[in-house]
Amino acid sequence: MIHLKPKLKESGICNRFLYEKDGERVYVPKKGFKTQDEAINECKRINSKPNQFHKVVPYRCKHCHKYHVGRNGNFIKKDI
Ligand SMILES: [Zn+2]
Repeated sequence: MIHLKPKLKESGICNRFLYEKDGERVYVPKKGFKTQDEAINECKRINSKPNQFHKVVPYRCKHCHKYHVGRNGNFIKKDI
């Protein structure tokens, strides 16, 4: 599927696909956290947003060895 050699540059890996413009893909660099605690705090902050329905969780990145925040496919249960 991927026939290009993987880039070793850190900035080339930990990006998040944002949108496509004029046939070019626009990426934004993912936020990297040095410690899991920082990532957990960020998750709490994101998950507490009123418009946030996808639950985010911290995970250790095998590329840059920092922590990123990402969806795990679950939804936040909101008390109505
Ligand atoms: Zn990373």
